[in-house]
Amino acid sequence: SSWEKRVAKSARRSSPSSLAVLVTGASGFVGTHVSLALKRRGDGVLGLDNFNRYYDPSLKRARQRLLDRAGVFVVDGDLNDAPLLRKLFDVVPFTHVMHLAAQAGVRYAMQNPGSYVHSNIAGFVNLLEACKSANPQPSVVWASSSSVYGLNSKVPFSEKDRTDQPASLYAATKKAGEEIAHSYNHIYGLSITGLRFFTVFGPWGRPDMAYFFFTKDILKGKQITIFESPDGGTVARDFTYIDDIVKGCLGALDTSKKSTGSGGKKKGPAQLRVYNLGNTSPVPVSELVTILEKLLKVKAKRKVLPMPTNGDVKFTHANISLAHRDLGYRPTTDLETGLRKFVKWYLEFYSKKSSW
Ligand code: NAD
Repeated sequence: SSWEKRVAKSARRSSPSSLAVLVTGASGFVGTHVSLALKRRGDGVLGLDNFNRYYDPSLKRARQRLLDRAGVFVVDGDLNDAPLLRKLFDVVPFTHVMHLAAQAGVRYAMQNPGSYVHSNIAGFVNLLEACKSANPQPSVVWASSSSVYGLNSKVPFSEKDRTDQPASLYAATKKAGEEIAHSYNHIYGLSITGLRFFTVFGPWGRPDMAYFFFTKDILKGKQITIFESPDGGTVARDFTYIDDIVKGCLGALDTSKKSTGSGGKKKGPAQLRVYNLGNTSPVPVSELVTILEKLLKVKAKRKVLPMPTNGDVKFTHANISLAHRDLGYRPTTDLETGLRKFVKWYLEFYSKKSSW
């Protein structure tokens, strides 16, 4: 059928040594950038996304058109659709799965807990079921989150630190994903790498994130709320630029070993890894606003409030030595340089949105 032809064409690789990658969440922020980078270097890429309405669906459709022009087909479907996943693995012998689909956001969980269970737990299990039954079994790289460090206040966070105190349901489902990965690796010999992203920002970013809605509100002259820690400590984030995250994702794909399959013990254990992908340079949220004021040439109307208990943590800071050693990961874009690129994209996108 023409659907199968589109799937196969999108996943076609430029040489036998290239990868064939299923990218879930391909119309999301990170998924779009990773898909484009893979396609650019000759890998076969097929996207999967359910285009949920968590934020502006027209932004997701615009990203999809960008992908379409680059030759990446995004199948409109849900992680929980088992027959669809089986069909995709039947049509394409994927070597890798880059799993970026999730219900993201920390505060939204207070009103919509079910959607985190659906996408981040049930959806992940369903995807791993399809991977375990596929022939060949793909290696899996997936997005965990810095939020797994939760109330741990020993910074910088390193992979060995405790992750048993999630501060939100979102964080709890990412932590659950890490445990689920362990079980599929143990029983079925799937090779799985979890990447703990730290506050990713950049062009085509997510409208629910602070740097994005601060930009919007500052330009509109609307008051913005900055949360301060009630105990006087700084509220800061280890903001990480999207291009650095993409390099980390590609590094993880390129260094992942083949899954060994059930009874993998004979061939040695399949890989199970987890890495921080951060910037090692936390910036206070008030400083983020100062940089935006400078780039937008508009003074923000700031309101400062004590941070409510809504799932956010006070401080994030990654130790990235493990990702540097194993994935060659080395972030190179600082917050101001990255925000300049974001603001340029934002102004262009929203001035000609209808033409995207
Ligand atoms: P995003 O919301 O822009 O992208 C996720 C995409 O997945 C969306 O397009 C959504 O439609 C899709 N999706 C959600 N549930 C699905 C389902 N059940 N089936 C199919 N598609 C589904 O988010 P993002 O910022 O690109 O994040 C990518 C990944 O990185 C997510 O797993 C997120 O939790 C993780 N992460 C992101 C950040 C960040 O700062 N952006 C930080 C830590 C972790």
